[in-house]
Amino acid sequence: MNQRITIEKPYITSNLKHARLNCNIRYPKEDGTQGEFLLHYEVPAKYKKYLVTERADTFLVAVLPQAMLHGWDIESVAPISERLYFQLTTMQMPAIDNYMEQWQAVEIFAPLSHTRLSSKEKRGLAFSAGVDAFYSMKITTETQAKNYHPEYLVFLKVGGTGSVGGEKEEKMYQIRVKRIRKFAKEYNYKLLEITSNLTEFLEEKNVHSHTYRSTSAILAVQKLFGVFYYSSGMELTEFSISHRFCGAYDLLTLQSLSTENTQFYSTGLAASRIQKVYGIAEYEPSYKYLDSCLNRRQSNCTCEKCIRTRLELYSMGILEKYSQVYDMEVFKNTFKDQTDYMVDKTTRGGKKSTYRAIYKSFKQKGLSFDEYQPLEVREKLEAENADKVLDEELFPWIAAKKSK
Ligand SMILES: [Zn+2]
Repeated sequence: MNQRITIEKPYITSNLKHARLNCNIRYPKEDGTQGEFLLHYEVPAKYKKYLVTERADTFLVAVLPQAMLHGWDIESVAPISERLYFQLTTMQMPAIDNYMEQWQAVEIFAPLSHTRLSSKEKRGLAFSAGVDAFYSMKITTETQAKNYHPEYLVFLKVGGTGSVGGEKEEKMYQIRVKRIRKFAKEYNYKLLEITSNLTEFLEEKNVHSHTYRSTSAILAVQKLFGVFYYSSGMELTEFSISHRFCGAYDLLTLQSLSTENTQFYSTGLAASRIQKVYGIAEYEPSYKYLDSCLNRRQSNCTCEKCIRTRLELYSMGILEKYSQVYDMEVFKNTFKDQTDYMVDKTTRGGKKSTYRAIYKSFKQKGLSFDEYQPLEVREKLEAENADKVLDEELFPWIAAKKSK
């Protein structure tokens, strides 16, 4: 018989400012004793009425990565949504069991409920101000289907702002949320901030578990959201039940974690990274608020994501639109260091490198790797080289492999 993780009954605590959905989790420890963790999700007090104690869905989804990693069965005192149970046990977990070495399917013991909770049926979108999030905003707000336009932006503290938890995660969260608040205010969106101590419980890093983390938080307010958009960080052609990138199977996960109350959608999965960057460049709100950063938000940041995003924008001739986000002088002065980094990453990563598309774009347009070229020069080069066919011989490491 498998060991078991137990989800006790969820309950709410609150003060004038905040309301918390709490649940005590009991789990097997390595030394054979039982550990306890009081897991919580916190929202501003005015959202208290949307917190769900009638179901344990939030906590079931929250502990899934840990349970599937260790092979712990899950027991819940409170009911879980029947749709969630059905999808998890007939689709999500069998797929993981079959195709992922690191995790396994486990049993769920819980009462089931198929009734809908009374809900405001609002539409929400997880918003971090990154390229993926802005692209999702663009496609969900430009559709003629007005009943699908997002009404709420949601910013989460569930691991995406630092995967070690505690003070470091809180600090990063506070830095990033400021920009999101400004954006929401300027563009008239309601902003819901949900924070959790989940990072202190889960062993699996954010990259292996972010979809579970984020959906668990949204299920805490199922009485608010009928539809919820979660941006895809990968393309549909990259779909795979992968432990390394949980985003690679978001399409399945978001379907499986939807309930009678809340339907999750994976947005932006039909566009490549380059298409997304082009897409947001036509979406003005991104000019001032794009935030691609992994570190402290700095206009001259040299983190991996900032370098990649700036060079993408540069090679497409649209970096200048983002001069409020990135310090152009610093970019010019450190240009060679950044392209060296990109070339090195492309060469090492080969076909799988996320830098390959940028490298290709430089080569195709005939852009210099050594020095910054002003927009007029880049545009001229682009026009001159528009018909140039880029063959694989331009990738020296591929040619080298072929000759072996
Ligand atoms: Zn950065």
